[in-house]
Amino acid sequence: MPKPRRALTARARTVEVDVRLERLFPGATATLCALDRRSPFELIVATVLSAQCTDEQVNRVTPTLFAAYPTPAALAGAERDTLEAIIRPTGFFHSKARHLQALAAALVERFDGEVPRDLDALCSLPGVGRKTANVVRSVAFDEPGLPVDTHVMRLSHRLDLSRGRDPVAVERSLCRALAPDRWGGFSVRMILHGRATCTARRPACERCELEELCPRRGVARAA
Ligand code: SF4
Repeated sequence: MPKPRRALTARARTVEVDVRLERLFPGATATLCALDRRSPFELIVATVLSAQCTDEQVNRVTPTLFAAYPTPAALAGAERDTLEAIIRPTGFFHSKARHLQALAAALVERFDGEVPRDLDALCSLPGVGRKTANVVRSVAFDEPGLPVDTHVMRLSHRLDLSRGRDPVAVERSLCRALAPDRWGGFSVRMILHGRATCTARRPACERCELEELCPRRGVARAA
């Protein structure tokens, strides 16, 4: 088993991880995102629904949802019980319905029914945090944005790319290491690797393409 390359700085390791993950998961950020959508509006709605839910489950719900409510105005004016019944399989459907309708109303009232690109404007929308805002920026608009979810946090710590204790601190570390046009793709590839190989409970270090770079290989269960 080769020795991990501890001599690399966190910044250099981040760049190398980015290169290797792109080999593993080639393609554009928008293509790699597993949420089905046809517009920024559909993406922001699907991303809100994906909290505590798999992308596959969200994709099962959204065709019905978008057929019923194709615009922010339609969603804002939806009958709450009907909306909740449609999104119920995604879990937390009461709060998600409330958030989605407040979000849709804000889009209509403050942004002429369009999803904004600006990070602060996105974060000002009800139910939209920094992670969701960065998903929308990178996937829908091909703008710089590095969403930090639970997978990105876990892998960043295991690979010692960042010692940040919260998502914003980790995002800052990663963004400092990578060019802005790499941010979105890096995030989505870290998520894919976290789901496929570096899982929370059983990381498959023996078949991990990042093993050589990883200070926690083989001991990640204690992470
Ligand atoms: S070597 Fe193990 S802990 Fe490190 S990134 Fe790969 S799967 Fe995760």
